[in-house]
Amino acid sequence: RLRLAEAHKLEPARTRDGHAVEVAANLGDSAGAAKAMAQGAEGVGLLRTEFIFMAQPQAPDLATQEAEYRRVFDALDGRPLVARTLDVGGDKPLPYWPVPHEDNPFLGVRGIRLTLRRPQLMETQLRALLRASDGRPLRIMFPMVGGVDEWRQAREMTRLLAREIPQADLQLGIMVEVPSAVMLAPVLAREVDFFSIGTNDLTQYCLAIDRGHPTLSAQADGLHPAVLRMIDMTVRAAHAEGKWVGVCGELAGDPLAVPLLVGLGVDELSLSPGGIPEVKARVRELQYSTAVELAATALTLDGAAAVRALAERF
Ligand code: PEP
Ligand code: MG
Repeated sequence: RLRLAEAHKLEPARTRDGHAVEVAANLGDSAGAAKAMAQGAEGVGLLRTEFIFMAQPQAPDLATQEAEYRRVFDALDGRPLVARTLDVGGDKPLPYWPVPHEDNPFLGVRGIRLTLRRPQLMETQLRALLRASDGRPLRIMFPMVGGVDEWRQAREMTRLLAREIPQADLQLGIMVEVPSAVMLAPVLAREVDFFSIGTNDLTQYCLAIDRGHPTLSAQADGLHPAVLRMIDMTVRAAHAEGKWVGVCGELAGDPLAVPLLVGLGVDELSLSPGGIPEVKARVRELQYSTAVELAATALTLDGAAAVRALAERF
């Protein structure tokens, strides 16, 4: 089975009845891009750009950032790059941006909340991404967006810069990882080009369990029906407006979750490169119509254990 997955890793992933699912890579550096493509990635579905900001004692300048993004684009050979703007703050402070103490950093100034307060930093990053693309497909997404105001501010900033640095193929979207974004998905879907569901944070905020909690984190299971219902709502809202939806949290790389995510209608799965051949193989074993039924059943269950049991029987 593994040999089969390996042998077909460079081919697209389609279910037996022809439903295509894009499988992309999550990257936390530029050096891994070529390797991810060799594993069969059809693009980068999440570039965690924090690595550029963590690597040095001061904020990286435009040239440094542009060079890193170019390195990724060059390895992609025309495939799309979904780059997430800087997602730090709270528990992930940067030495050169002191953040006042917060009692609940996960509920504090992090992600887009931080970068909107640092427009110069945000502009430099956006400029570097736009310059590096050189006509290649660039998708920019903003982390921790909780409502339309944050999204619109980020979009306006990007649009202004894109007028200066024209783009052949640019899409703008948001990470869906805050429950308010799920509840507002029908509104947001009218304005974004895509959604990418961050199941790590979405699970944490949906279930109110710290994703790194020493004793509770095992219960922060993305297969909890409450989380699956949120994914379902997000996909429905996006598709009603003709927009695509990815999942880029850990759940996308869980072979047990793949039939459920496909059945919920997720268009793209983005995961650690090592897991790509296996996830593509899982997709190929599926009958889309059966996966849709499986997902519908999962939504009716009462807990993560029941969903896992269902997925295992499947
Ligand atoms: C997520 O929250 O699911 C996600 C992909 O982002 P990160 O793990 O980097 O917070
Ligand atoms: Mg996140």
